[in-house]
Amino acid sequence: NSPLLDVKDLKKHFPIRSGLLKRKTRFVKAVDGITFSIGEGETVGIVGESGCGKSTMGRTLLQLIEPTEGEVVFQGKNLVGLSTKEIREVRKDMQMVFQDPYSSLNPRLNVFEILSEPLTTHGIRDKQKRKEMISKILNVVGLNEGQMFRYPHEFSGGQRQRIGIARALILHPKLIVLDEPVSALDVSIQSQIINLLQDLQEEFGLTYIFISHDLSVVYQLCNKICVMYLGKIVEMGDVDTLYENPLHPYTKSLLSAVPIPDPFQKRERIILKGDVPNPAAPPPGCAFAPRCPEVMDICHQVRPTLQSCQGLQVACHLFQDESVSKHG
Ligand code: SF4
Ligand code: MG
Repeated sequence: NSPLLDVKDLKKHFPIRSGLLKRKTRFVKAVDGITFSIGEGETVGIVGESGCGKSTMGRTLLQLIEPTEGEVVFQGKNLVGLSTKEIREVRKDMQMVFQDPYSSLNPRLNVFEILSEPLTTHGIRDKQKRKEMISKILNVVGLNEGQMFRYPHEFSGGQRQRIGIARALILHPKLIVLDEPVSALDVSIQSQIINLLQDLQEEFGLTYIFISHDLSVVYQLCNKICVMYLGKIVEMGDVDTLYENPLHPYTKSLLSAVPIPDPFQKRERIILKGDVPNPAAPPPGCAFAPRCPEVMDICHQVRPTLQSCQGLQVACHLFQDESVSKHG
């Protein structure tokens, strides 16, 4: 069974001019060689601090940003290099929900107009038909047709995110990329939206890519996790294995700060020094070395690659082939 989405060595490098003569172009490697796949009905969590390239990766998957290199194979078809028209077709099956329900909805359009947009783009011009579809989807996300001609400012944050979800859902996509869909919301509203997302997934057999810095929300929702650091995946695997026994020091530090129930609670809090380094000038070797509590000499020189270890994939010199026996 081939995966729904197969991402191969995906890169997005943004050029920046530097130096006095502005002759040399340097690159911010926001996404720097990401490979993973996702099966139908799965939810993959993409986690990491802000500035790790999570959002850029999400947008690159949907070709909202053109990748520099690599492949995004969706339903057996590589999306990289397709024409705008071909991409528009694909968007029926692949949608995105954005972090900020305040800025992702056009304040001058009412709900009917906002939800009409994807429909007319895909050839559904009949107004009565659109009204029917919109009232149906509003009910699905917990709103109602009486709210169809209201404007975004008349809704609460949670309701606006429901509108954003309705917009993503209205063409019945297979895959939805959710970029921090609840981070801008109050905690009480967050769980309502998470529950809604879970119900929708079950009802429509959706596949999710869930981008988040909140590891307890990710634990609730995802069955697979990719941990990103400075444009690369440093660890990935199924959620239970990874949360129970994380290997990468970065994952360990992220998880040590998460209030999730036993048996994980007894972990000691690991506080990292400093911030994510400037992605235009990443350190040589392991990009996490300047902050790593377990750093070794080799880490400053050699970049570790993803390797299988204890049921996970991990990029760290503590777990490279030759050292597996020592630490595994
Ligand atoms: Fe830490 Fe070295 Fe592993 Fe990087 S490779 S995470 S610096 S131990
Ligand atoms: Mg982001």
